[in-house]
Amino acid sequence: MAIRKIRQLGDEILRKKCREVPEMTAKLKELVEDMYDTMYEAEGVGLAAPQVGILKRIVVIDVDGTPYTMVNPRILETRDTQEGSEGCLSVPGKAGEVLRPAFVKAEAWNENMEHYVVEADGYLARAICHELDHLEGIVYVDKVEGELYDVEPEDEE
Ligand code: ZN
Repeated sequence: MAIRKIRQLGDEILRKKCREVPEMTAKLKELVEDMYDTMYEAEGVGLAAPQVGILKRIVVIDVDGTPYTMVNPRILETRDTQEGSEGCLSVPGKAGEVLRPAFVKAEAWNENMEHYVVEADGYLARAICHELDHLEGIVYVDKVEGELYDVEPEDEE
């Protein structure tokens, strides 16, 4: 288990476009494991490779106990819109309202480079859009409607 440092808004790496992953390697599998460790440690629901300083098209998402490793993900179809609050591990203590598709159909490859398609609505659809944006150098603050607002930090245990 290894926790990687999460890059914060203002770090140039969050603004760069990520490269496709041509094949899975031992090193990239380790990256995926570390991304899960880092996301769970930070109590996030998604993390993209550029957030830990790696410009590769890899994201991990877990909004409700089902983890999705998405390598080279691509949105195939979207429907309707949803309004809702969004935050990001790279922008701690803040949240904002972002308009996203209500339904998303996406394809990706898992950590074994097996292809799959996921159909998502609600929060999972939102998380997929948010994380895929990171691969293009887009952070949700670019899309926020109105102002960012402060969120209460979690109580330390
Ligand atoms: Zn984010």
